[in-house]
Amino acid sequence: MEDYQALVNKQKQFFRSGKTKEMTYRLDALEKLRNGIREKEESLLHALKADLNKSEFEAYTAEIGVLLEEIRFTIKNLRVWMQPEKVKTPMTHLGSASYIYSEPYGTALIISPWNYPFQLAIAPLIGAIAAGNCAVIKPSELTPRTSEVLGDLISEMFPEEYISVVQGGVETSQALLGEKWDYIFFTGSVPVGKVIMEAAAKHLTPVTLELGGKSPCIVHEDANLKLAAKRTAWGKFMNAGQTCVAPDYLYLHRKIKEEFLRYFQEATEELYGAEPLKNLNYTRIVSEKHFRRLRSFMNNGDIFMGGKVNEEGLAIEPTVLTNITWEDPVMQDEIFGPILPVMEYEQLSEVIEGIHQHPNPLALYIFSESKTTQQEVLNQVSFGGGCVNDTLYHLASPYLPFGGVGNSGMGAYHGKGSFDTFSHKKGVLKQTTRFDIPFRYPNVKDGLKKIKLFLK
Ligand code: NAD
Repeated sequence: MEDYQALVNKQKQFFRSGKTKEMTYRLDALEKLRNGIREKEESLLHALKADLNKSEFEAYTAEIGVLLEEIRFTIKNLRVWMQPEKVKTPMTHLGSASYIYSEPYGTALIISPWNYPFQLAIAPLIGAIAAGNCAVIKPSELTPRTSEVLGDLISEMFPEEYISVVQGGVETSQALLGEKWDYIFFTGSVPVGKVIMEAAAKHLTPVTLELGGKSPCIVHEDANLKLAAKRTAWGKFMNAGQTCVAPDYLYLHRKIKEEFLRYFQEATEELYGAEPLKNLNYTRIVSEKHFRRLRSFMNNGDIFMGGKVNEEGLAIEPTVLTNITWEDPVMQDEIFGPILPVMEYEQLSEVIEGIHQHPNPLALYIFSESKTTQQEVLNQVSFGGGCVNDTLYHLASPYLPFGGVGNSGMGAYHGKGSFDTFSHKKGVLKQTTRFDIPFRYPNVKDGLKKIKLFLK
């Protein structure tokens, strides 16, 4: 196992120089990152095509455009975010003023997955830079071409004592985790999330864990079915279902099940054609292992649509399975592929109960025209974040925190949330020296009586 101590020490030393805390340095770094992304656009599109057969449209939208927008938003707001926040001071502290300072942690380790291999490495980095940290990124080994472009971009733009990319798989990740970081930001699966937290605990390093899980999509009897079908098909089959917040399974009200599925089939055909496996822009499955795991679900329930695969190209048709129950293998873990199991219900309470029996989802989607129904679900189910009458879109707003709860993770980011995630909030009281209120001192006459007037 390689030793990364030298790299970490170099970064710690650079951090102590104070350079990364300067606002101009942070803004300059964000600007460089933006230019670097623009310069590498072509190579990134090629790499994403080679690694996952991502179409240019999907790759630009979900991996490049979204980051440029995040950088723009961060640059625009950074000056304000960096200001110490003046907060109220209680009467007992007369004469003083209170502030919250946002201070960078120091050196951050960012470990990212393969499904959006560029976006999920750079989005946290934007927060790390904005907050004034140094960072090391360990991208996914399963998308080697994208990880290579990412590595080139970072080494061309930044000195390694500031930001560096370390390439490698599980062993590299574990060697990095052996070092003492000031912050660890991990995006990936639930089991590995546990490994990360255990490693972080040894050094009492704070963590953000962006994990996964089974995200339900509920379509109620009063939903706008055609639109619901289109938005669900879009959210499910983008990146061939390899999206952490993709609808994992459908809960359809019994009354509208048939009609909804008809619209769903039409919508999928509109998006990917009658033969998606022949569509050159349809994303493939990342590895043979994942492909085999997904294919094994095909005999669960009945195939309503899809079901065909291209073994050589590792592609799986958009597939819908009906007659599914919680006992089927496809319902045991996050699917992470273009297979959509359907369960039906009559009462909303059955849905809520079903979800409650399982770990907190990362996302939840409810399609209904009724505010009462929407509210019932929002009030009763705990999930990371989600949408009413849409899928995935909550993720693209810099004003909404994005993260999980319970098994789907801890902490959140995007927009100011990213800056806050990578900042320690330091509370500071600035006291006056013009006078000194005596009540706190033990030798004051009737001290207890007086202090009780304030602390009651
Ligand atoms: P993964 O957990 O297998 O790997 C993620 C990263 O951890 C990779 O860089 C990998 O090299 C490293 N890693 C793997 N095993 C490790 C170990 N034992 N010790 C230390 N490091 C290890 O996840 P993945 O397969 O790359 O990605 C898919 C998962 O990520 C899904 O569960 C998905 O839901 C989740 N995900 C979550 C989000 C989110 O924002 N919440 C986004 C995308 C993906």
